[in-house]
Amino acid sequence: MTRTSERPDVDLAEVVPGIDVYASPAVRLHPRPGQPEAWVSHIGGPLLWPAADPWPRCDARFCWHYLSDGPAGTSSVQPSRVSGLSVDERTDRLRASCDVPLTPLVQLYRADFPEIAFPAGSDVLQLLWRGGFWDRDCIRAYWRDSASVFAVQAAPPVDVQVAVRPCVLDPERIIDFPWFEELPGDVLRRINDALGESAAEEGRPAAPALYHRLSAAPGFKVGGSLAWPAVEMPSVICPDCGASCTLLVQLDTYEWLPSDPDSPWRPSACGDVAEDTEEYENACSPVGLVVGRATYGGVFACSADSAHAVQFRCQ
Ligand SMILES: [Zn+2]
Ligand SMILES: [Zn+2]
Repeated sequence: MTRTSERPDVDLAEVVPGIDVYASPAVRLHPRPGQPEAWVSHIGGPLLWPAADPWPRCDARFCWHYLSDGPAGTSSVQPSRVSGLSVDERTDRLRASCDVPLTPLVQLYRADFPEIAFPAGSDVLQLLWRGGFWDRDCIRAYWRDSASVFAVQAAPPVDVQVAVRPCVLDPERIIDFPWFEELPGDVLRRINDALGESAAEEGRPAAPALYHRLSAAPGFKVGGSLAWPAVEMPSVICPDCGASCTLLVQLDTYEWLPSDPDSPWRPSACGDVAEDTEEYENACSPVGLVVGRATYGGVFACSADSAHAVQFRCQ
C-alpha cells in the first residue's frame, strides 16, 4: 500500500502570502521493513559495494566504540568495554584508531531521486554510519557509478553493536517550508498574522506552534528543511571549500511522534493502526534507529560540490 502524508487542514502556501518563494521540495522516504536488494534504493541492507573494494571502517580515535557495549545511537554509554583493562591497555586502545566496520544506512539511486545533485559520473549515493549519533562526522557519503560495479561484495563485515532494520522505500514528493529563523522578518510577521501570534522568547522572534507542526516533515527524507527547536540553528559550512551546505538526507527516530497520533505527517495508510500496539510503534519507527536523544538529524552536503565531505548535525 502506498504511503502518503495526510493533507493538513491549513495549507501554508495558501494562508501565508509570499511564503511559496521559500518552499523547498522534499521526498519523504516512508521506509518500511523489507528485504531490499543491492540494486535498489533502500535503508539498511546490502549496498552496491564492489567486491574488490575494502569495506570502510571507523578511523576515529577516542571513539565511542571503545567506551560502549550498549546499542549504538542510545544516550546510555556503558564503560564496560574498557573497565577490565589496565591503564596502559586503555591508553594503547585510545591511541589506536578504531577500525570498527561502518554500517550501511541509506542507498539512493539517481533514477529514483533526480532531485539529488549527484557529482558528475555518479548515480548512486551511499551513506554509511559509524554509530553514535553525536559527532559531526559520524556519517560518510560515497558517490558511485553503478555501471562500474561488476561484482557486489557478498558478505561485508558487520558492526554487531549496530542494527539498522533493512527497509524498502515508498517515496512521496512534498513541499517543505524553512525553519522560521531562515525567513525574513516580514514573512515571519505574515506567518504570525495568518496562524496566530506567538510569544517571543527573551526578545527573540518566534513562530506559532502550528507553523512548526506543518512546515518541515519529520521522518526519513531527501532534501527539504530541517527544524531546529532544540539547538540554535547553525550555519553549516563546507569544510573543503567554505560554501554553505544544504540538507541532503534527514535521519529520524520517528516518522511521526508516537505520542501524536493526530500528526498531519501520519501517512494515510497507517490511519487504521491502533495506538499503543506493536504495529503502531513499528509504523512510527520502522528503521529502529535511535538518532541522538530519540530525535533526528540532518546529513548536509556542500551546495557548490556534493562530492565534498558531508556533515551531520543532530537535534
Ligand atoms: Zn569507532
Ligand atoms: Zn564544498
